[in-house]
Amino acid sequence: MTNEATVYKSLKDFFGYDTFRPLQKEIINTVLKGEDCLVIMPTGGGKSICYQLPAILMDGVTIVISPLIALMKDQVDGLNINGISARYFNSSQTPEEQHDIYAQLETNKIKLLYVAPESLSLLENIFNKIKVSLFAVDEAHCISAWGHDFRPAYTQLGHLKNRFSSTPVIALTATADKATREDILEQLNIPKAKKFVASFDRKNLSLEVRPGNKRMEQIVNFIKTKPNQSGIIYCLSRKTTETIANKLQKAGFNAEAYHAGLQHAQRSKIQEGFINDTVAIVCATIAFGMGIDKSNVRWVIHYNLPKNIEGYYQEIGRAGRDGLPSKTLLFHSYADVVQLQNFANTSGNQEVQLAKLERMKQYADALSCRRKILLSYFGEFLEEDCGNCDVCKNPPQFFDATILTQKALSCVARLKELESIGPVIDVLRGSHNQHVLEKDYQHVKTYGIGNNISWRDWQHYIVQMVNLGYLEIAFHEHNALKLTPSAKKVLFEAQKVALTKPTDKITASNETSTN
Ligand code: ADP
Ligand code: ZN
Repeated sequence: MTNEATVYKSLKDFFGYDTFRPLQKEIINTVLKGEDCLVIMPTGGGKSICYQLPAILMDGVTIVISPLIALMKDQVDGLNINGISARYFNSSQTPEEQHDIYAQLETNKIKLLYVAPESLSLLENIFNKIKVSLFAVDEAHCISAWGHDFRPAYTQLGHLKNRFSSTPVIALTATADKATREDILEQLNIPKAKKFVASFDRKNLSLEVRPGNKRMEQIVNFIKTKPNQSGIIYCLSRKTTETIANKLQKAGFNAEAYHAGLQHAQRSKIQEGFINDTVAIVCATIAFGMGIDKSNVRWVIHYNLPKNIEGYYQEIGRAGRDGLPSKTLLFHSYADVVQLQNFANTSGNQEVQLAKLERMKQYADALSCRRKILLSYFGEFLEEDCGNCDVCKNPPQFFDATILTQKALSCVARLKELESIGPVIDVLRGSHNQHVLEKDYQHVKTYGIGNNISWRDWQHYIVQMVNLGYLEIAFHEHNALKLTPSAKKVLFEAQKVALTKPTDKITASNETSTN
């Protein structure tokens, strides 16, 4: 029987810690009782100890199923350094190396074995001959088509509980919405698993969303106020990471690009440089950060809108793991939304992807506390507004925008619903640009009726009209703006419209960070 003192002693002896983080102790006790668990904890929350510590204390070997072959070696090396006998088993190994593992398993020499899901079937015969103390399914959301990172090989894991019914299973993930959680339990055949959901609230991360105009200028202004701090800029494409890194280097910043298209050696070099603070800024695709345990990342910028909230949350979560105040900044542009919609449309899981993208967009468009929205996505409800997001700090001011909206809507109508936001604004403002002249729009009745409002403010208003359902963007017709039935109420039935004033954030000159 394992008592409390033994658990604490192992925590100290093998991991060097005196106290548990929230939920760790409860989870470990449940595992030690032989019960199944589902652990939902944000990145950096301390999931690993939840299975590593029981592995040490229980009889037999703990099998850790992990999708990241690239990280297994590091994880195992780390455990070995701490005096824990761990190995890994995956397709990168030679048959001799694999036989070595078989032999060590049969002679009970291993406490933790990290296995790629694809390689699990090679071990199942051995599992009948030895004692498996626990199956730990890391990144368990990979089993669910509802998750954002579905891996077909994970679906075989459902058999484990059938074949080894008396061996407990612990499933762990950082990124699960409600549907995914339910699906994990079902797919793994552990319907009665105890659920442990750690708070996803990372109070030390400030949240901010800005329109994506002049992003580069805004980024430079942002970074200037944070000399020598470590930060990550996430971009959608490899090309963008390189472009931005280049521009930042030219502007005198210590920045590097990182993406899966680079040579392995180059990637390791940048990753190590970042960890050791010789590289301050990494402009990266989402390939960067998995398994990087760096505590003092002070800011994370999303140059592009992420595909979904899970990904976004995980990426901003790489900032401020030390608990100190850290900034996150997301740039929101409609061009990104269109591109992501196109990606989603060509993906196998179109409906789910589009629904997730819609939630992401709602977050970016939010007019109320962003943290509330973010946490509610993970099933967590904040009593009060957070005070540490841009909406809390700078609450939107509504004003009667009925006439302004009527002008925009009637302009859309006059342009026969054929034009996207740019030309509509140009006509409202009476622009003489080539497109306007070519189409002879200067004779349209609404030409110039909005010339008292700046281009950027019009954009801010029209985006709101889209979000409020007065206008729609026809993605298959070059993003032409279309009137909705609600628009007709505003135009013909004198329905009132309230909009928010634009903030002057975009000039970024009011950036007054001190930390
Ligand atoms: P996750 O897998 O949830 O992302 P990890 O298990 O990698 O998180 O833990 C994140 C960091 O927190 C690691 O550096 C780990 O050593 C540290 N950590 C975990 N548990 C504790 C604890 N009880 N006390 C202090 N540090 C801890
Ligand atoms: Zn807030």
